[in-house]
Amino acid sequence: MPFKYLVETLDRLEKISARTQMTVILVNLFKETPPEIIDKVVYLMQGKLGPDWKDIPNFGVSEKFLVKAVSLAYKKPEKEIDALYKQLGDLGIVAETLTSNAGGSQVAGLMSWIGQQEKRELTVIEVYNTLYRVALAQGEGSRDIKIRLISGLLSEAEPLEARYIIRIIEGRLRLGVGDATVLDALAIAFGEGVQDRPVVERAYNLRADLGHIAKICASQGVKVLSDVKPEVGIPIRPMLAERLNDPVEILRKIGGDGLVEYKYDGERGQIHKKGSEVYIYSRRLENITHMYPDVRELAQKFIKAREAIVEGEIVAIDPETMELRPFQELMRRKRKHDIHIAMKEVPVAVFLFDLLYVDGEDLTVKTLPERRKVLESIVENDQNWTIATYIRTSDPDKFMNFFMKAVSEGAEGVMAKAVHGNSLYRAGARGWLWIKFKRDYKSEMIDTVDLVAVGGFYGRGRRGGKIGTLLMAAYDPETDSFKTVCKVGSGFTDEDLDKMYSLFEPYIIQHKHPRVDSIMKPDLWFVPAKVAEIIGAELTLSPLHTCCWNKIRSGAGISIRFPRFIRWRDDKAPEDATTMTELVEMYTRQLKKLEEAK
Ligand code: ATP
Repeated sequence: MPFKYLVETLDRLEKISARTQMTVILVNLFKETPPEIIDKVVYLMQGKLGPDWKDIPNFGVSEKFLVKAVSLAYKKPEKEIDALYKQLGDLGIVAETLTSNAGGSQVAGLMSWIGQQEKRELTVIEVYNTLYRVALAQGEGSRDIKIRLISGLLSEAEPLEARYIIRIIEGRLRLGVGDATVLDALAIAFGEGVQDRPVVERAYNLRADLGHIAKICASQGVKVLSDVKPEVGIPIRPMLAERLNDPVEILRKIGGDGLVEYKYDGERGQIHKKGSEVYIYSRRLENITHMYPDVRELAQKFIKAREAIVEGEIVAIDPETMELRPFQELMRRKRKHDIHIAMKEVPVAVFLFDLLYVDGEDLTVKTLPERRKVLESIVENDQNWTIATYIRTSDPDKFMNFFMKAVSEGAEGVMAKAVHGNSLYRAGARGWLWIKFKRDYKSEMIDTVDLVAVGGFYGRGRRGGKIGTLLMAAYDPETDSFKTVCKVGSGFTDEDLDKMYSLFEPYIIQHKHPRVDSIMKPDLWFVPAKVAEIIGAELTLSPLHTCCWNKIRSGAGISIRFPRFIRWRDDKAPEDATTMTELVEMYTRQLKKLEEAK
């Protein structure tokens, strides 16, 4: 197919903005295009060489080098090109003008000079392949290769072709041809008409590669698309959630009862596994495999199927306490250049919540309970690789309790998910089958609190066999007892941890101390004696802690989100610890500040 035909279409598209007109133009283009190259036509039309997730390098050609390439192609000094560029304001138009002035392509000129009438035409495939080579040229000497390839292409181009070659390389081909218009055009060109759009769209949602879908349509017709299944290595467009702020309404919307899961605050990962190969795609379908060699290894090890596509949230964690860490921690991993250092500094865990494909079977057409059942059967749990924490409920109070527990443990909220007969995986769609319930506030804990250690948990990893986490309580003068507020495992130095056991040895007792009120059962109970200063992200409500029980909300106490140890307060007796009244006051002040900020 002549490249000229494609650029004439691009030129026509550039002059219109109505979607219906664009669709008509695309239908004609697609019908004229040989099926074996239609994928390339679709990519080029969008100014690309392939879908974004394919990790094709950028052209890597700065404006300055593009000017060099133009100068080389038209044998004009760079200064002259610069001046023309300033005058015309568009390097594409500069190249177009220079080609016209040269009387069409250089080669055409040469051919007519040597007396040949036939003019060589650039083909779509030739241009695509050359541009691909430009993008792939990397490293030493690549700059010259890129310049030579581009100038070679320009010197064979017709004026309009030159304009679009430059625009594609500059990333300025903004014709406004969205995916939706391409899907419409494919349905009309190769199906019965727009009524076939849903089947084309479904296939695209399952295999997010427009060129690939266009090729199937053109070579086999739209009908076969209804049999398209997900394919490992081609990302599936993710299912998205609606948002509501009332548990009663949420449960009603999802059909009375459903799964309520922790909504983790990390990065969504769509993990594809085929034998020993693993690919990870982000929420926006970028290939993020290189960011997570540890997740790749977990998937290789713990997915017990030959081929599978699972979804989960990748979250920063404290490997010794397995506590969730805030989203900002995960971002620290992204900012580091050396992934192996980043992996050590910001360890992650994966919380799986869906299974979309396994060993040839498309699970997106199954209900959520069916998908979860298979998911649980094909994944092995490990410390850093588990199914997302969930309950199944129809009770708004249980829902709310679970939400508070999720937030106090560092999750962002919960996701409620329908489990009825129609609870399929709607790839690429936002709907009421999934509803997110998040804290609609972000507050800050300004003051520190002094809490008493009443119990200890053994750590893992580096902290194996040592006390790694403490159960902390506030003082209730009314009942002269200690009521738990949080577990704290962050903020201790290695030295603190080394000394922890000997520090608490004199206080270890076999049973809960009679003055301690706790729902949690630590590995070791202590006599309330040691006071520590603690800071956290904010005060939250929690059904797991007894401090201020029922004071703010029935069935919940006050807790601290992301608590950190600051120092021991040996100058304080346990009865000098922060009291329940003080915590209620702090919580109310926090709420007030939020109200004021709104
Ligand atoms: P959206 O993704 O809905 O456009 P957003 O980008 O603001 O909005 P969120 O409001 O954070 O995203 O909600 C959706 C995201 O929540 C999912 O894309 C996923 O990354 C994350 N998530 C965390 N836990 C779960 C879970 N258990 N089930 C589904 N998604 C979860």
